[in-house]
Amino acid sequence: MSLTPIPIIAIVGRPNVGKSTLFNRFAGRRRALVDDAPGITRDRIAEEVEVAGRRILLVDTAGLDPEPGGGLETAVQGQAQAAIAQADAILLVVDGKAGLIPEEAELARMLRRTERPVAVGVNKIDIPGHAPRVAEFHALGLEPTRGISAEHGSGAWDLLEELVEAIPKEAGEGARRDPDADGGLHIALVGRPNVGKSSLLNRILGSERVVVSDLPGTTRDSVDIRLEREDGAYVFVDTAGLRRPGRRKRTAERGSALMTVRALERADVALVLVDAAEGFTEQDAHIVALVRERGCATALLLNKWDLILAREDGSAERVDREVQRRLRGISDVPVMRVSAKTGRGVQRIFPRIRQLERAFSLRVPTAELNRWLEDCVQRHEPAMAQRGSRRRPIKFFYATQTGSRPPSFLLFCTEPESVQPSYRRFLENRLRERFDLEGAPVRIRLRSRHDNDTR
Ligand code: GDP
Repeated sequence: MSLTPIPIIAIVGRPNVGKSTLFNRFAGRRRALVDDAPGITRDRIAEEVEVAGRRILLVDTAGLDPEPGGGLETAVQGQAQAAIAQADAILLVVDGKAGLIPEEAELARMLRRTERPVAVGVNKIDIPGHAPRVAEFHALGLEPTRGISAEHGSGAWDLLEELVEAIPKEAGEGARRDPDADGGLHIALVGRPNVGKSSLLNRILGSERVVVSDLPGTTRDSVDIRLEREDGAYVFVDTAGLRRPGRRKRTAERGSALMTVRALERADVALVLVDAAEGFTEQDAHIVALVRERGCATALLLNKWDLILAREDGSAERVDREVQRRLRGISDVPVMRVSAKTGRGVQRIFPRIRQLERAFSLRVPTAELNRWLEDCVQRHEPAMAQRGSRRRPIKFFYATQTGSRPPSFLLFCTEPESVQPSYRRFLENRLRERFDLEGAPVRIRLRSRHDNDTR
């Protein structure tokens, strides 16, 4: 996790206006540059992009919410409210083909009251002839309002740049905690609605001999909970919704994607809760992937295990298989079976958190790291680099650790761009094994060094 705070932009709007297409278009710029870890699902909730020279986190606010069913209006308004409370800027997407509808006027009324920068993307303006459709949306009273085509890309990136430029330079400051401040280890409890986050938090707070205090969080609506245990201090971040369930059901839950992303930016360790009785879903896998990508150490908690035990119909094995299948590529994430209801497994959570913390802040002496690299290359040589008909072996020279929290490493070799993704994975897996990095994200970068360079 980089320690620089990162501003968050929420993309909001009704279903089918083209939010996902737009999100993917923005994200595509980044994906061209980065090698996705294979096996990790593609649908994303949040994507880091560089806009106007700044790193920005784009969040698809609908990303974690239940399928839109009844009460659509409240769903979209809930997203907008969450965005107002938690995002640094908001991009409202409307459908230029459908024209302005009353619900959007209502949304705009909410958004006009916020001091955060807002931009309106009037989507589906695919050809210049469509441009006159934009005019009526100026009545929303939000500027800039511009025609864009998420499908073809026209206007979209410019609008995003304009929005980013309106975000004050200090936005996001303080969102990322200072790792040196003596606040305690920061933990985010995340997962889809109704998996049992509230119940588990209450179980943790209730069952332990702990001193609990509330700290103001980073946004108006958020609360951090600080715990003191014999083995250390812990802070559960952004837990307002979890402490006040009634309130949460109305608004914050609709913004769970944003809440999750915001919490992850401040956390060292993320516990991803899953409803085991429902099974491990695609959405759950997205959350694990997101957590990993945002640089938190992770454990997966299969909650409601009491229900699985009650079934005796092979459900336990089925859940295990699902987890294994969907976590391909991030299989090092430790899995725990717990029940917030009965307390099963809850006492094992803190020891697990400590292990994750150790992995997350690991520092490997350089000599040891280089012995590891030598072993790796000896055990399994990288595939040859091939350009045209010429094949050359790739040589690895040395490795150095460039940071911790999470552990980051730089490896010098010839032709880094020719190193196969499978070889990177091999290196990463060996690194995890050797240094007990279970559950922690690891960053490995390769840098070019020529054979005849002197060190
Ligand atoms: P959240 O939305 O993730 O915070 O979920 P809640 O804590 O509100 O729980 C959602 C529902 O699941 C509630 O009805 C809880 O009583 C129930 N629940 C939570 N944990 C467990 C558990 O371990 N076992 C069982 N059987 N039910 C649970």
